[in-house]
Amino acid sequence: MPKSEDEELRRIIEAALAEKDGAKGGGGKNQMVCPHCGKKTESLIIKRYRYKESGLDNVYLKNSAILHRCVCGQKYMEIPQIERLHDAIAYRLLNKKTIWRGQEFRFLRKWVSLTAEELGRVLGHVRRGTISRWENDKIPITPATHHQMLLLVLRLKEEAINERMSLEIAIKEILEKVAEKAKTPASITITPDTIRSLPFPALKGGR
Ligand SMILES: [Zn+2]
Repeated sequence: MPKSEDEELRRIIEAALAEKDGAKGGGGKNQMVCPHCGKKTESLIIKRYRYKESGLDNVYLKNSAILHRCVCGQKYMEIPQIERLHDAIAYRLLNKKTIWRGQEFRFLRKWVSLTAEELGRVLGHVRRGTISRWENDKIPITPATHHQMLLLVLRLKEEAINERMSLEIAIKEILEKVAEKAKTPASITITPDTIRSLPFPALKGGR
């Protein structure tokens, strides 16, 4: 893990622990064996964890992330069911009725396992640099691009989806509405319930 990420993780852990009742005991079932010394860790469920590792600045995991602390001083952060978590985030983004921000566009591209180059090709010879500029908010994502990407993402996931996403029912409405940028991005909060009640099953393979 690069040093800056390590420091960021440490900061999050310290903040979570400093927060009054910010964490509660995870109980025995969440315990893990410390890979460093082999002792059993103390495990805490983080009440509210900002999931920056997703590349999104507005995603919060409620009672989902688990912090493991060992007497030897090692700390580990565990994000359970990460694939389903990403499905849940993608589902929220696909239902978003304002234009994606660059980071949201990037999340969806990665969700369907496309490189910027591959995406450029399937979008009709869009240069990789253009995609990078979209993803970094250097040039605006147009409603037309949003529509094209939305349809592409659904198509790429379609083969893997047995039960149709209820999302598709709303697609006409979304395509009609997505025309503007949100003033402030609404935060996305994912709880264990969000994942349990996702309207589509776990997807096998991105493509
Ligand atoms: Zn240890």
